[in-house]
Amino acid sequence: MSSAFPHRHLLGIEGLSADDIRFLLDEAEQWVEFNRRARKQDGRLIGLTQINAFFENSTRTLFSFEIAGKRLGAQVANFHVDSSSVKKGESLTDTALTLNAMQPDVLVIRHEANGAAAEVAEVMGCPVINAGDGSGEHPTQALLDALTLRRRFGRIEGLKIAICGDIRHSRVAGSNLHSLPLLGAEVRIVGPEELLPPSPPPGFASFTDFEEGISGADVVMTLRIQRERMEEALSDSLGDYHSLYGLTRERLERLAPNAVVMHPGPMNRGVEIDGDVAEDPERSLILDQVEMGVAVRMACLDVFTRPDRGA
Ligand code: ASP
Repeated sequence: MSSAFPHRHLLGIEGLSADDIRFLLDEAEQWVEFNRRARKQDGRLIGLTQINAFFENSTRTLFSFEIAGKRLGAQVANFHVDSSSVKKGESLTDTALTLNAMQPDVLVIRHEANGAAAEVAEVMGCPVINAGDGSGEHPTQALLDALTLRRRFGRIEGLKIAICGDIRHSRVAGSNLHSLPLLGAEVRIVGPEELLPPSPPPGFASFTDFEEGISGADVVMTLRIQRERMEEALSDSLGDYHSLYGLTRERLERLAPNAVVMHPGPMNRGVEIDGDVAEDPERSLILDQVEMGVAVRMACLDVFTRPDRGA
């Protein structure tokens, strides 16, 4: 593939091909080494304005987009919802039109509504990168997960990956359920019935028994319970979620010998994952995921601001 990337916006993994994903991962590789240098300054985004419009809280995603843009030389402006006119009742489209009038060159958006990034892309004159829309998609998270796995195993094809926990409300699962099978992984979803998708996507094995679901897996991806996206409280039977679905040291015994553990963060230690598992230097890739996040976001900012990218 040439440097002409065939998409104007990054709204989700859905709609990307396996080649598109591999292209973005290959582009990200150069930034991994670059980010480990003492001095990290590239000039390819000099003169460009990047707006990060985050309508929901974020630690990793907001900071890594900001750091990524700055390392590439962009002028980065963060839009803070708490001090914005959204609090005065301004609609999403009006806010987008306002930001667009300031002539940004790329907009990174996180919003609590599914489809918000696509809605905003309709009115923006610049590329839009979805940094998480409701329980929809979080494409840069799936890309950084794929890069982390590809660097660890040298491949994604054939890996047995168990995505565990609150799949139903997770945009991380939403994106990974598109990317990982496209890249050739064998993906299972594992969790209590009420946290699995109401109609499980065809082609995925689904398990409500945690120990059965993670047996023999090369990768366990644990997810936080997304209470903020639930319309109803969890049933009482899930009161002791940790005893049924928590990833404990004993349960690691069930995995493949070189298995790894991932979590997109923020973690709730003692709920979906134990602290000693999250910190296990042999198994845990959680901080590698954060590191790869900066590289992936640099690649996305670079690729999506190229003048010759697709319509
Ligand atoms: N940080 C991820 C997200 O924004 C995962 C999470 O919040 O649990 O979706």
